[in-house]
Amino acid sequence: LFKERFSKAKLPAISSDDVEFKILANVSSPKEAKIAYTNGADGIGLYRTEFLYMNRETPPKEEEQYEIYKQVCENMHGLPVTIRTLDVGGDKPIPYLGIPEESNPFLGLRGIRYCLQNTEIFKTQLRALCRISADYNIRIMYPMVGMLEEVLAANTLLAEVRYELDQENIAYSKAMEIGIMVEVPSVTFILPQLAKYLDFLSIGTNDLTQYLLAMDRENTLLSKNYSALHPSVINALSKIIDGANKEGIEVSLCGELASNPGATALLSALGLRKYSMSGPVIPRIKDAIRNMDVSNNKEEFKGFAEWSTLDMVKKAIS
Ligand code: PEP
Ligand code: MG
Repeated sequence: LFKERFSKAKLPAISSDDVEFKILANVSSPKEAKIAYTNGADGIGLYRTEFLYMNRETPPKEEEQYEIYKQVCENMHGLPVTIRTLDVGGDKPIPYLGIPEESNPFLGLRGIRYCLQNTEIFKTQLRALCRISADYNIRIMYPMVGMLEEVLAANTLLAEVRYELDQENIAYSKAMEIGIMVEVPSVTFILPQLAKYLDFLSIGTNDLTQYLLAMDRENTLLSKNYSALHPSVINALSKIIDGANKEGIEVSLCGELASNPGATALLSALGLRKYSMSGPVIPRIKDAIRNMDVSNNKEEFKGFAEWSTLDMVKKAIS
């Protein structure tokens, strides 16, 4: 079965009623990009760049970043690569970045919040990314966005970087797409306003679940109830996917939920057509998509808004 799935991995994922899906990969290194490509990824939906900053004494310089981003793109052979800007803080401490001790790190100086207060580090990364955009099919994605102001401030810094590159006659693509992770619940209620400034959204169910349920995603005492299948999370996903589709802005999902084959049908019923997951899981999910019928799924899960417990959701998708 495994062999058979793998042999079909590079074919597109199309449901039995002819709905096409894009199955992308989550990676954190050039090596993982290679594995993703072999497993039939239609591109990279999430490249976690924070690993480049970890286990060292100083931040990676522009040139070092450029070379690694280039390798990731080379390994994807022209397929689109979505690169997430530094998502430091929370569970990912990096001592030299100087984040003070916080009593609630997951609610603290994380992701874009850190980058907007440490613009030198952020602009170095944006510069490396802009240079890559001259020759490769990349998009950039800001993590932990919770307010429109953060998108505007990040885009202003990006404009500064582009202006500086212009002054130096260094090439970049003006068409590079910009998106955000949807992982802070507040974003759900300002989607139309945000959509005006963005090209795409990618739902991070790992953090969205943590923040919606007020449950630390790493606390093992809570792991029985910490689940992206909580009815509130499912309803939030529905609202985000509908909102994105209404605004005509692309939406994908890159949290762990995308790798759960039990959830594939449910997500398709909510209107999701782009999933991003760890490379080795791709053949299995593509297979699940080929064996399902989206209109049947819509019928089967049409009562999802009434689900009240985690067990009900689990039962419905099993
Ligand atoms: C998420 O929060 O769902 C996500 C994909 O990002 P990370 O796991 O890196 O926080
Ligand atoms: Mg996250």
